[in-house]
Amino acid sequence: MSHKSTDLVHHPYVPPAGFLAPQPGVFKASTVIFANVAALRARDWRYKDGYTYGLHGTPTTFQLEERIATLEGGRHCVLVPSGLAAIANVDMALLAAGDEVLIPDNAYGPNKALAEGELKRWGISHQLYDAMNPDDLRARIGPKTRLVWLEAPGSVTMEFPPLARLAAVARERGVTTALDNTWGAGLAFDGFASGADVVVQALTKYPSGGGDVLMGSVVTRDDALHLKLKLAHMRLGFGVGANDAETVLRSLPSIELRYRAHDRAARALAGWLRQRPEIAHLLHPAFEGSPGHANWKALCTGGDAGGEGLAAGLFSVVFDERYASAQVDAFCDALRLFRLGYSWGGPVSLVVPYDIATMRDARLATWPNKGVLVRFSVGLEAVEDLRADLEQALGALSGAR
Ligand SMILES: *Cc1c(COP(=O)(O)O)cnc(C)c1O
Repeated sequence: MSHKSTDLVHHPYVPPAGFLAPQPGVFKASTVIFANVAALRARDWRYKDGYTYGLHGTPTTFQLEERIATLEGGRHCVLVPSGLAAIANVDMALLAAGDEVLIPDNAYGPNKALAEGELKRWGISHQLYDAMNPDDLRARIGPKTRLVWLEAPGSVTMEFPPLARLAAVARERGVTTALDNTWGAGLAFDGFASGADVVVQALTKYPSGGGDVLMGSVVTRDDALHLKLKLAHMRLGFGVGANDAETVLRSLPSIELRYRAHDRAARALAGWLRQRPEIAHLLHPAFEGSPGHANWKALCTGGDAGGEGLAAGLFSVVFDERYASAQVDAFCDALRLFRLGYSWGGPVSLVVPYDIATMRDARLATWPNKGVLVRFSVGLEAVEDLRADLEQALGALSGAR
């Protein structure tokens, strides 16, 4: 070929094989090239024995899928563009018009919003159930129920459910369960051993660890269930970018170290805050008196977790009723190291105030619905500096009357 433009597209140089480095390579593709027509016709996008199209997998995404499956203790994984997309992938793969899905009352908010929006529009109904009460779940399972969502602990309000008992109730009735395991990150407890059929995670949180990537995973042990999820994934076009996958691959080796560090720091700060007169309730499953503490203890201590157990770097506090929400807002604004922002799992400590009344279905709420709730995600700053930050901001709380 004599034209440079053609030579630059079809260059003859092939680098030597056998390159080995600690970090997997980044393979970027929409198009995947086949050696011949027979190969093009023979290739099956459903399996990891070859490549068909970037959306269905590259060496980079296959490697990340296998590592996330290992993290969760599962066999198959599909990657999706966010944690919420993982929830959507499960709903769309397993539900049809006329079906019903049951969601914990204290679930991650957008899971409920998806049910109230698109699922309802498509003729799929839902009910919220009390995640702390397996009898409530049992009573709500009906002939239309096809899927039960599980989450531990509840989002923001942090009640730790009797997970295995909930999963067993669904199993008794032959209903598939899907666990949102973002908090546990595959480290604090084993979602499959707890009875879940599908385990999803927002890789956006601890697996990414940087606050800079959005991604989700859907993991299964069952081949047929995986194929259903993979089929919906293919039809929906829920692929992930190679650079994002590479970022998560780079963060994964340190996830357990980071998770334990976030956990230790959060427990130190939660223990300190709990003693303060401004705080009415601490919501952290590893603390006695927090809703579902015994369930956390049963699931997340012992084995690799040790006697101290494992918990994410996440907790909420409810301020004493004497503080109006404007005062709690002033506390949040006064924080300097804790920054205001959603999500968690990265190096920066974060804080968000929430209105408790909107967090739980009033009919199911079992604990005081008074006082303003603030959720903390503890990052990787020095604990002493974070404690000093909380202390100075508590000063602003009483000042802002
Ligand atoms: C953050 C989060 C999600 C959603 O993850 P995104 O990547 O932000 O869509 C889902 N479930 C839980 C429990 C989460 O904390």
